[in-house]
Amino acid sequence: MDDCLFCSIVAGDVPAEVVHVTERTVAFRDINPQAPTHVLVVPREHHRDAAALAAADPQASAELVSTAAAVAAAEGHGEAYRMVFNTGAGAGQTVFHAHLHVVAGRDLGWPPG
Ligand code: AMP
Ligand code: ZN
Repeated sequence: MDDCLFCSIVAGDVPAEVVHVTERTVAFRDINPQAPTHVLVVPREHHRDAAALAAADPQASAELVSTAAAVAAAEGHGEAYRMVFNTGAGAGQTVFHAHLHVVAGRDLGWPPG
């Protein structure tokens, strides 16, 4: 999709530190990390949020979660990590291309801040 930052990263037009790729997903480090490990897992195809992705492509949705687990394990945090989908501007979503935050490596208290 034109004018979408994460589509541009998937296409390789905007640089990012890619840590994992699968058939349907790309995982790269968040530019403003909130923890020692903060990786974004995005579908290669554009969907505005996680629910739209799940409705359109359940397999890609599942692959997002399994990729997140693989990333957490590769970073040494397979036993304790957080997966977050901010959905809607009111919940802090700023990039409207579905993405799963993988956050780990610090105290992950509950409820989240
Ligand atoms: P959200 O607020 O849930 O939409 O998450 C968007 C995330 O994208 C934020 O955590 C940003 O720090 C991150 N971000 C924005 N621009 C870039 C970029 N060029 N490369 C990597 N991460 C980015
Ligand atoms: Zn996009």
